[in-house]
Amino acid sequence: MEIKLPILNDVWMDNAVETLYRILRETQNSSFSVKIDNNSLIITVTDFDKFKESVGIAVKNRRSNLIAINEDKNLGEKKEVKKDYILIQEGAKVSGKVAFKEELYNEKSTAETIKEIFDLISKEGTRNCIICGRQFFKPMKKLQQAAYPFVTKIKSLSGVRSYKDGEVYSFKEYFEDLCPTCYLTGISEWLDDGIIYRTVPGEKSTLFLPRFNSLEGLAKFKDSYRSLLNKSSRYRNIRVKEGSEETENPSGSFSTLLCFYEKFFFGVDKKEVIGKSWAMMEVPFGAVKNIKLNVIDLTESILLIIKELSEDKISIYKGIITEIFFFYDNTKGAPVDWDLTGEIRENLSESILRDDFRSFAKNLLPRKGGHVGYSNDTRLNLEYLIYIWRLKGMGLDEENLKIIKSAGRTIAAASKNHRNLLYKLDKAKDKNALLDALRQISRRIAGLKVEEKDKFRGFIYPPALEDIVLLLERHESDSKFIEDLKNTLVIFSCVEFSRLDYIGEKKEGVVNE
Ligand SMILES: [Zn+2]
Repeated sequence: MEIKLPILNDVWMDNAVETLYRILRETQNSSFSVKIDNNSLIITVTDFDKFKESVGIAVKNRRSNLIAINEDKNLGEKKEVKKDYILIQEGAKVSGKVAFKEELYNEKSTAETIKEIFDLISKEGTRNCIICGRQFFKPMKKLQQAAYPFVTKIKSLSGVRSYKDGEVYSFKEYFEDLCPTCYLTGISEWLDDGIIYRTVPGEKSTLFLPRFNSLEGLAKFKDSYRSLLNKSSRYRNIRVKEGSEETENPSGSFSTLLCFYEKFFFGVDKKEVIGKSWAMMEVPFGAVKNIKLNVIDLTESILLIIKELSEDKISIYKGIITEIFFFYDNTKGAPVDWDLTGEIRENLSESILRDDFRSFAKNLLPRKGGHVGYSNDTRLNLEYLIYIWRLKGMGLDEENLKIIKSAGRTIAAASKNHRNLLYKLDKAKDKNALLDALRQISRRIAGLKVEEKDKFRGFIYPPALEDIVLLLERHESDSKFIEDLKNTLVIFSCVEFSRLDYIGEKKEGVVNE
């Protein structure tokens, strides 16, 4: 007997096929063999009874992927909790153990259910499956979110949706048309330990599932990074480092993905296949689970940048993103605005992943009541990031970088008490507007009072602005160059802006030359 599960180009179902493959491969014995290629998973069964028994045991062993252990430190008790993103209903706990309503995940009925499903799969029939289109004999279960979370998003089903008990969707015409193979596949995806997740209690969970047009590629990619994830962690599963139980705590979805790639390039030895496309799935808290689904496609060039940084032992997430803070200008109370810090870190992560240099620069600008700040090490890491992200491609070298940094210090000093100068530079839309902003900065520098000049000594170096003007003239017909140069200037000005607070106090030994 041969069971064939084809690729459906549906991110949930394809990851589920890969999950089944993984489970079957781990449990493979003389009763069956399993192989995966670009287009399908093929199970060849020689002893049907023993095969069903083995799959039942394998699924039972994997149940731990659906739960986390919660320890009550006061009582010293350990209790199972269902992970928040799992869309399988649970009944009252039985002596601290989660009791799933789905028969497949109820330890007492797993073996029997698996047997029943495969018996149905082995029969031929004439009904058509709504998910895969294949003909089948009889459904195992109705179509529900537990087996296919995007059930409300199937085009042919919209319009026939109705509510029952306030939360259960039912589909009068089609909901019975789920073949037992798709039921088993879909429901098995909860056993996937290759999903990256982040849960904000009371709000939502965000899940990342890789998208591939080859099942074999998908399997290779997931195999290569599984060890970076800690499935026993309830809220977030990217390990601080391989082998560690501790997990990272990124401030948002994009920082989660950026954090993942940092670990991937640092930790994974054999990067045979590198996934670039992801489905970002948002599962809300609350009774009605309307799942949001977004696709994120990354470019090769951005991944190469993260890779290049890691080869130079620079962590894009730990060494840059999590080292950026929003400081209050007036530090009577707490020095850092943590909410805004989290928001900025998330925006910066998204800008990097989407290769949006403009948005990256904008997020570093000072805002009302405060500014972004960094440690010395972070500044160097950031500088290196900007160099390989943009300057290298613009044909600029280390010497040009020095000029831009020097101009940045000058702009920062001029804008310290006149932030509108920095905002104007940031808003400049073309070469002329940029030249105009630079002229205003020069005038401001020329008009500085003696004590200001004294205070900012070492920061102000007007010839650097002249050099920038020359660069602009040389590339005046290249609007992309001009835009990138502007954003680079904004970034370095913002970085230097944060240092001005410390001059006079710490004597960091800044010299502008
Ligand atoms: Zn089907």
